[in-house]
Amino acid sequence: MITLKRNDEIALMREAGWRLAEVLALLAEAVRPGMTTDDLDRIANREIRRRQSYPGFLGYDGFPKHLCVSVEEEVVHGIPGPRELRPGDLVSLDCGLIYKGWWADAGLTVACGQADPEGARLIEVTRQALDRGIQMALPGNRLGDIGAAVQQHVEAQGYSIVRGYTGHGIGRDMHEDPEVPNFGRPGRGLEIKPGLCLAIEPIVNEGQAATLIRPDRWTVVTADGRRSCYFEHTLAVTAEGPLVLTALPGVAG
Ligand code: MG
Ligand code: MG
Repeated sequence: MITLKRNDEIALMREAGWRLAEVLALLAEAVRPGMTTDDLDRIANREIRRRQSYPGFLGYDGFPKHLCVSVEEEVVHGIPGPRELRPGDLVSLDCGLIYKGWWADAGLTVACGQADPEGARLIEVTRQALDRGIQMALPGNRLGDIGAAVQQHVEAQGYSIVRGYTGHGIGRDMHEDPEVPNFGRPGRGLEIKPGLCLAIEPIVNEGQAATLIRPDRWTVVTADGRRSCYFEHTLAVTAEGPLVLTALPGVAG
């Protein structure tokens, strides 16, 4: 079932989103060679709880940590652990929190230290794809307009869209209806209305789109071993257009 949020509910989700934006900014700054993905997980847990929020990933479908960290060929859902970050690694950070009963879900990919040119381009194209998708989250548009905008941008740059994992509605739960695919056809799918809150999250592979799941049953990796990249924001659709909830106050998404 799709729930449209009232303005007072969106205001609370915005407070959740601001908190998550701060946590993600700290995590992105913290990434450096020699640290482990577990070090990032500890920062996430500490900084979320400091903001009167709960690290909603912990225990979600049995997930054992507070943050997903996916490095290089890892696509999404990487479990923090002893993996040491190396210079130039692409590090995807996916984080969620619950504040006063409302979810925020967001993430980004950063290079560890200096990115190589190909890595920098993959990051930039994926970030742009998220922006293109957000811009289509307008009343009267349809979900297919979001997916088509993301897909067209990514494929025009020679990269591929991972299809098995999608964005989603969000609110009282992290994953609500509808699913928000990163591909589609303009004018197709659910009509977008004010009050709809969505997490849009393009997942982009350098090589082929196919993925596998590691024996840990969580970590998704590219089938061809090449790199992957991801960006995500939670937004609310308003009569005026998309309001990004997981950007820092005063900073556009
Ligand atoms: Mg997420
Ligand atoms: Mg999400």
